[in-house]
Amino acid sequence: MVERKRLFDDQDTRMLPGNASGLHGEDIISVSQFTTEQLAYIFDVAQEMRGMVERVGGTDLLRGRVLACLFYEPSTRTSASFIAAMERLGGSVIPITQGVQFSSVSKGETLHDTIRTLEQYSDVIVLRHPETGSADIAAAAADVPVINAGDGAGEHPTQALLDLFTIKEELGTLDGLHVAMVGDLRHGRTVHSLTQLLGRYDVRFTFVSPEVLRLPLDYMNQIKDAGKDVRETYNVADVIGNADVLYVTRVQKERFSDLAQYESLKDYYRITPDLMAQAKERAIIMHPLPRVNEIDVRIDTDPRAAYFRQVRNGMYIRMALLAAVLGRA
Ligand code: ASP
Repeated sequence: MVERKRLFDDQDTRMLPGNASGLHGEDIISVSQFTTEQLAYIFDVAQEMRGMVERVGGTDLLRGRVLACLFYEPSTRTSASFIAAMERLGGSVIPITQGVQFSSVSKGETLHDTIRTLEQYSDVIVLRHPETGSADIAAAAADVPVINAGDGAGEHPTQALLDLFTIKEELGTLDGLHVAMVGDLRHGRTVHSLTQLLGRYDVRFTFVSPEVLRLPLDYMNQIKDAGKDVRETYNVADVIGNADVLYVTRVQKERFSDLAQYESLKDYYRITPDLMAQAKERAIIMHPLPRVNEIDVRIDTDPRAAYFRQVRNGMYIRMALLAAVLGRA
């Protein structure tokens, strides 16, 4: 028998791990896990990713690596963002976004087994799930890193990172800012995650919502305990003139058991050109998207409308995170 020639060289150094981020092999579950130094490091890598994409479009940093993208809730932006991020880094994706049947995680079985199965095929798993806490269950089941892409009304850490990165890129700083969060602050997981992150910086908050959609007490207490100046109002006009960041969110229809209540609240806020005329010249308006009616489309051409730039930043941040958890950054 002819001696077979080896296909791979064990000394192939292209896959040598790097772990300057401290995130190699780690799950990304909550913003609370990041140190401030790690955030700065990820932002630095994201900027480098931006430069690389603008110059050459992509690289082979994650060649041979596979991402399983498991979405139990509808998503266009976040799933596409992770897919684009992985592909621009030369990896590939198993996208599971259609027809995934949700079965209660509280029983523990189905999600666990799905995750155990997917990790046999992949090097990293991105999970979106309608139940708070599901990302922890998946992370406990898997040996490969699990990235939380939204767990019910819980957290959405990668969105919060891209939101923070956007504020820094747009305004040049994270300190000395007045941030107004507007809309469904009760169910909006992006608000929950971003509020926690911003609480580490010298930021003043105004929360703008109707009474039933106020920010949950846990999050409120966390930033109050951190000594932040926090106000609440139900009127955007109270804050529009002196906010640096207007973070607008939709009313989260899927979290309401009473649809009549949703109908009565869904059009509570609408940011119009007239309102924006009162805003600071250097303010920015952000939205995690999808937008329903909260921001008038005429604002899209206002240079202060940062929401589509925010989407693009999401890809750079997710590239940085994928590279980090896979030991390449
Ligand atoms: N896309 C964001 C999320 O998944 C915001 C939203 O859906 O309103 O939470």
